[in-house]
Amino acid sequence: MENYSRLAAELPHAVARGEIVAYYQPQFDIITNEIVAAEALARWVHPELGLIGPVDFIPLAEEFGVIDELGDHMIALSCEAARDWQRQGHPIEVAVNVSALQLGDPEFVTRVLTTVESYGLPPNRLTIEVTESTEIIDVSAVAERLDWLRSVGVTISVDDFGTGHSSVAQVLDLRATELKIDQSLTQDDTVTARTLLAAVVGFANDKGLRVVAEGIETAPQLERVRQLRCDRAQGYLLGRPVAKAAFDLLL
Ligand code: C2E
Ligand code: MG
Ligand code: MG
Repeated sequence: MENYSRLAAELPHAVARGEIVAYYQPQFDIITNEIVAAEALARWVHPELGLIGPVDFIPLAEEFGVIDELGDHMIALSCEAARDWQRQGHPIEVAVNVSALQLGDPEFVTRVLTTVESYGLPPNRLTIEVTESTEIIDVSAVAERLDWLRSVGVTISVDDFGTGHSSVAQVLDLRATELKIDQSLTQDDTVTARTLLAAVVGFANDKGLRVVAEGIETAPQLERVRQLRCDRAQGYLLGRPVAKAAFDLLL
């Protein structure tokens, strides 16, 4: 992969040059159909290669020690965006993806809270989405850090639920307050998948977790998660990830 080493070499400078931006995808309340949150998704606006998606550079950032800087940048962009939306009269929430490696840093929480405060954002406007793309090494230390965030009102979400990357154990260990159901579950129309989906939502309701259904692409999929009483829906049917200016117009 020729691009691999090129991107690896350029990534450390990309954040400083302002080439890493956030796209925002709307999350809808399943009852009112209103936009209640935006998920921030990283994009690399490369001067020569164009728009690069996170699957092509987040693993590099993790591997080459740039993930903390990149992650802090994404949190700052997201808090700034949420502050803008609040000023525009739309006090919606913002959700940021955080890698397990970021949570391994003891200073992570302090930096998040400093950022939230510096934008004057109520902490309950922020959601941290945890994906276990790399294994969480010290689960109890990470859980304690997340406890701290949760205690001030930050939502702790377990992303990609229903894939190999997240499990019931992880939800319980991290004392999550939200569960994001992966598209592999919400899009699958087989009886097995539907049974599993219903069981997952039942579990979440039982534990008092907020449930977001991801990857909603069709009206029947939306109807299914609505009948199961998921709280929120997100997906191409409802809105694709777009740049900040385009999201402003959406609101
Ligand atoms: P994710 O957090 O599960 O985000 C959802 C992904 O599914 C996004 O891909 C989004 O564009 C895509 N998606 C949304 N709705 C639909 C739909 O209806 N159908 C289909 N087929 N796809 C849909 P994206 O933006 O390429 O992000 C991929 C993954 O990269 C994210 O998955 C997340 O795990 C990771 N990621 C993105 N931004 C960041 C970041 O700032 N930091 C970290 N650590 N990871 C990030
Ligand atoms: Mg996510
Ligand atoms: Mg996901």
